[in-house]
Amino acid sequence: MREVVELPERLAILPFRNRVLLPGAIVQIRCTSPASVRLVEQELWQKEDKGLIGVLPVRDTQSPPPTVQLADSVSEDRDGKASSTLTSDYQPPIGKQANEPSHWHSSGVAARALHLSRGMEKPSGRVTYTVVLEGWCRFSVQEMNARGPYNTALVEQLDMTRAEMDQAERDPEVQSIARQFKMIAGELISVLEQKHRKVGRTKVLLETAPAHRLADIFVASFEGSFDERLAMLDAVDLKKRLTKAIELVTRHLQTIRVAEKISQKVEGQLSKSQKEFLLRQQMRAIKEELGDTDDDDDDVIALERKMQGAGMPGNVWKHAQRELRRLRKMQPQQPGYSSARAYLELLADLPWQVSSEERELDLAAAKERLDSEHYGLGKVKKRIIEYLAVRKLKPDARGPVLCFVGPPGVGKTSLASSIAGALGRRFIRISLGGVKDEADIRGHRRTYIGSMPGRLIEGIKRVGVNNPVMLLDEIDKTGTDVRGDPASALLEVLDPEQHRTFNDHYLNVPFDLSKVVFVATANRIQPIPPPLLDRMEVIELPGYTSEEKLKIAVRHLIPRVLDQHGITSDHLQIPEPMVELMIQRYTREAGVRNLERHLAALARAAAVKVAEREQALRISRDLNPESTPVLGGSLADGELMMEVEAIGMPMREMATSVDTASPLLIDEAALEKALGPPKFDGREAAERVATPGVAVGLVWTAFGGEVQFVEATAMVGKGDLHLTGQLGDVIKESAQIALTWVRARAAELKLAVKEQGNLMDSRDVHIHFPAGAVPKDGPSAGVTLVTALVSLFLQRCVRADTAMTGEMTLRGLVLPVGGVKDKILAAHRCGIKRVILPEKNAKDLMEVPAAILANVEVLLAKRMEDVLHEAFEGGCPWKPRPKL
Ligand code: ADP
Repeated sequence: MREVVELPERLAILPFRNRVLLPGAIVQIRCTSPASVRLVEQELWQKEDKGLIGVLPVRDTQSPPPTVQLADSVSEDRDGKASSTLTSDYQPPIGKQANEPSHWHSSGVAARALHLSRGMEKPSGRVTYTVVLEGWCRFSVQEMNARGPYNTALVEQLDMTRAEMDQAERDPEVQSIARQFKMIAGELISVLEQKHRKVGRTKVLLETAPAHRLADIFVASFEGSFDERLAMLDAVDLKKRLTKAIELVTRHLQTIRVAEKISQKVEGQLSKSQKEFLLRQQMRAIKEELGDTDDDDDDVIALERKMQGAGMPGNVWKHAQRELRRLRKMQPQQPGYSSARAYLELLADLPWQVSSEERELDLAAAKERLDSEHYGLGKVKKRIIEYLAVRKLKPDARGPVLCFVGPPGVGKTSLASSIAGALGRRFIRISLGGVKDEADIRGHRRTYIGSMPGRLIEGIKRVGVNNPVMLLDEIDKTGTDVRGDPASALLEVLDPEQHRTFNDHYLNVPFDLSKVVFVATANRIQPIPPPLLDRMEVIELPGYTSEEKLKIAVRHLIPRVLDQHGITSDHLQIPEPMVELMIQRYTREAGVRNLERHLAALARAAAVKVAEREQALRISRDLNPESTPVLGGSLADGELMMEVEAIGMPMREMATSVDTASPLLIDEAALEKALGPPKFDGREAAERVATPGVAVGLVWTAFGGEVQFVEATAMVGKGDLHLTGQLGDVIKESAQIALTWVRARAAELKLAVKEQGNLMDSRDVHIHFPAGAVPKDGPSAGVTLVTALVSLFLQRCVRADTAMTGEMTLRGLVLPVGGVKDKILAAHRCGIKRVILPEKNAKDLMEVPAAILANVEVLLAKRMEDVLHEAFEGGCPWKPRPKL
């Protein structure tokens, strides 16, 4: 151990930028500034006996203090002293006084050069020195002299003399702090030892060196902040120094421990997945060794095989392989594995090459099939046959997409499936009702959690062939909202130019939809966006007359319903008049869906009877002694005989009754029992228009045509018009127009008004459209509104057998309306005998079946006056306006 030295009075001062040399520490400094080079040259290089120089810390605020790195070891030099290899020299900042007093620390450490080497700076050729210095003892600067080529200072030694030191060390307080310090230092060493560091000599040092020297050496051995080290330098007092050292060493120890813990944790996690990987590899190797290389076990391999067999086009196959490689690199537990797998499964499942074999199209057979499955619909069937004929001649013809438009239950879906049957293709129905999200058609991008392909690709996957007949059901029910416009996505699907490369966002590779035969259905044309409508050929199915319904029921629905319920005409017979009654009293729809439902209700009732009868027959056969020889043989015993008789008698009776049971014949009573009391009785219109102020209108809804009553009433008030019945803006305006027109014509109509008085004087009018829960709109109620108002003011009832439709202008002209055919059919269904139509709608009568026109008298009206004339019994007291 070195003795405490006596310092000379004056020392050459080497500035040490933002660093601190502590006694016992060894540093390597590269001197490049002219002053430092001169100092080294004069004080160390040229002198034989290398003298002492003062190393003084300088705070350089220009450049940031060096980053503090955690040195987790106490490295050793050859003397067993802690050393660091800092290579910094102080370069005075440009334009600033290098020896500005505020920069210099007031105390430093005298140091002895252990090694010197000279170098040359390229390309300037300037001489530089690298010095290895060992710190000896602390000093304080009394006076700085900057006049020479380098700084010198009058110094005062701070460290105690040996005798003083010995005395201080005997202080019990110092001794106890020193013990504590040594303990912590020992702990640090043992921690480092665990990390296989070479700490042997430091350990020896710990046992031999005095605590205060050890404190400096330990603090110098690991990286600390500039301020911490300055504090250590300034801790001249032994107690202070040791306490500071304890604080710093403890903190360093904790840092090492925390770092250790973190790295252990990370290692632990890493090694877990590595271990799993290793085990898997081993398992595979063992399987191979055992010859147990059943590849199907490995489902990724199975998936790959499936993909190979899917017949993907070249670019898709490349993409799929890339995805498969990604999947292989993933662990099954990894997030995203299952979605990546599901995606590949979809790629493998899609029918890239699979088509249902299209048989030679036999038009006669197709026609026969259509006829056998559907009654009537002559025009529709003709158009379908034309469509099929074109396909036969030119299979890849870009014909328009057929779109069946009509109320529910008129056979749109079943026609589409008949087309599929005629073409020998599979049929898939995609319901678009209520689809508001574009992603429903085109899929979600795979970046979304829970993303899925769109309904089209999903449908293709389900049907398993790439050339099905695909029914886009309820295409008019798609809506637009913030999630995009499904209709525009459908445009792409129906565009023959684009559907060759249909791009589903989820699939992310094009799929060829060109072989798919698209058929669409809709209830109404209006909601279909025009560009979409442009791609389709609309075929209207207006609804059936009662006669047609009867034929459909007898020929198609009843046999089908019986078959569906496992019964035959031997069990249930529904005579035609009863079917007619069902049509009149229980259904009032354009299609036949409700009728089919009611027929099913009858079939269910019959099925219960048949099932009961079969059970009764079985029991009676079991218990009938005559028919059971085994039982008969054992019935010698009278007692037993009596018992059997007791149960057997009624059973036998029942058996004879069911044996002779005839089929369940439906009559009016049976009908009422199965379906409940009639819903419509044909007298409805007459009853409802029995009071003045009610008129019968005809409207058109998604369910086809319907009869709509309009009720008007007046009461004491201030001349206001009240409207109820969930009315839209257009219909409200129609009501305003109607009232204005009636008020303007009050005198001519001879309405009940006081002479020259106002029609609305001190009264309010309320108009209501019954079925208040159903929203209504449209202009076609104009003439009905006027008729109801005139009836109210005239206090005369409207004819109960007359219904009307038509838009009216403010001047009383009657304008044409839509849906005439449906409306006349609806009037006919409700037992209306006369229908008033706008004159301009005369051309639409061509479409109305002749059978209907034979029963319904159509009256054409040009002006409102004509309507009124027909609406009232004996005409309206209308006085023609004098010509101006
Ligand atoms: P939509 O698709 O128009 O709502 P559906 O095609 O589902 O109606 O038809 C409802 C039921 O009515 C089906 O069982 C269908 O076979 C039957 N149907 C409809 N029209 C006819 C018809 N003209 N001939 C025979 N059955 C028909």
